Amino acid sequence: MEMTAFFSRLLPDSTSLRLDAWQFDDATLRIILHVTSTQTAVPCPVCTVRAQRVHRRYTRLLADLPWGPARVQWQLRVRTFVCTNTQCSRRLFTERLTGIVAPWARRTQRMAAWLIALGLALGGAAGVRLSRCLGMTGSRHTLQQKTAQRRARRVECHQQVWALRAQGWPCQAIAAHLGIGKRTVFRYLRTLTLPERTRRCDRGRSLLNPYKPYLLERWNAGCRDALRLYGEIQQYGYPGSSATVARYAQRLCQAQGQAPRQRPPRQTLPTVAEPHHQRLTARRAIWLVLRREEKRDEEEARQLAQWRAQHPEVAEAIDCGQDFARLVRQRQPDHLDPWLARVAQSTITALHRFAERLADDDDAVKAGVTRPWRSGPVEGQITRLKMLKRQMFGRASLALLQRRFVLTPGREPGQGQRPLELSEVQARPAAA
Ligand SMILES: [Zn+2]
Repeated sequence: MEMTAFFSRLLPDSTSLRLDAWQFDDATLRIILHVTSTQTAVPCPVCTVRAQRVHRRYTRLLADLPWGPARVQWQLRVRTFVCTNTQCSRRLFTERLTGIVAPWARRTQRMAAWLIALGLALGGAAGVRLSRCLGMTGSRHTLQQKTAQRRARRVECHQQVWALRAQGWPCQAIAAHLGIGKRTVFRYLRTLTLPERTRRCDRGRSLLNPYKPYLLERWNAGCRDALRLYGEIQQYGYPGSSATVARYAQRLCQAQGQAPRQRPPRQTLPTVAEPHHQRLTARRAIWLVLRREEKRDEEEARQLAQWRAQHPEVAEAIDCGQDFARLVRQRQPDHLDPWLARVAQSTITALHRFAERLADDDDAVKAGVTRPWRSGPVEGQITRLKMLKRQMFGRASLALLQRRFVLTPGREPGQGQRPLELSEVQARPAAA
């Protein structure tokens, strides 16, 4: 009995489920849980009137999350109810166990959630392999289907939001009726088609933002103690952690070309300022330097000028980079040798290495600057070959790889690519 009480606590919802018994099947390494639904009055899915008349009882077999090497199976006793509302189009319906299992599903919702996560992260085939390692059964088709079903549900919900809104429902009532958040309703009503999922919307928003002007002022005045700064802004109401302040201080150190924790030198450091737009990363800096001059806005030009003024080496790197970009854009192969000679004089080792690699490949670089052709398509085919090879690693012969490479159509614009199944490859004639 104690074990039954223990297993009961592992059920997703002990208020609407009861564990009657459990058994361990040694032959199939399965834990079988006999579970009964204990809901009393169940709302009809069509008219939402609560029904109490039971039509029949039956058992559903459900897969649940595994326990170690053992698969867990539920034998769930559920009922079919009779809807007594004479206005309703539905007469019989099976009881819904919201949040536990979807109607007609063969696995619990918490297990479905795991499979969806695997499908999204790894794609069909790889997701299946990992889910089998984890003791969960699901085919590639299931994973893809689950992912598609979830999207379909969101599309349907989006349409319902618009339909209710067209009937004049207020947002709050729509949210309550569909069981979704009010903010989701607002978001759905902003676009006529379902908005695709994007990155976190609070990216770049930090609790520290309102306090940055103050921190910068103190920093430039010479206070470099992150803990002290933290104490100061806490008095002004900063609700965040000291670690956030410490990270910000570290960034300010880097902006001034200082290693963190290094004592400030006697000479005056350049003042730092919070960028108005995005945080500066190496990628963004490269983009700013190499962007066409006529496309830079005032702010970007100001920032470039500021970098140039910070250190002669930075200015030199910017000039060399921009000259090289111009040389490639305007196809001036005769400017290449003078550029290489100039870089050879430079004190920046990264540029030296870059120039050495260019010099090694002199003919190819000159051809790249003068000819209209490029190696992009070839690189693309190589990438595709590697992808196919890795997908079937250890499972198929070179002959199959060759066939898949030749017979799988490349990606066409606006159309997803589907790798061929083995049976399809064998069904096709070899002469292609
Ligand atoms: Zn009904």
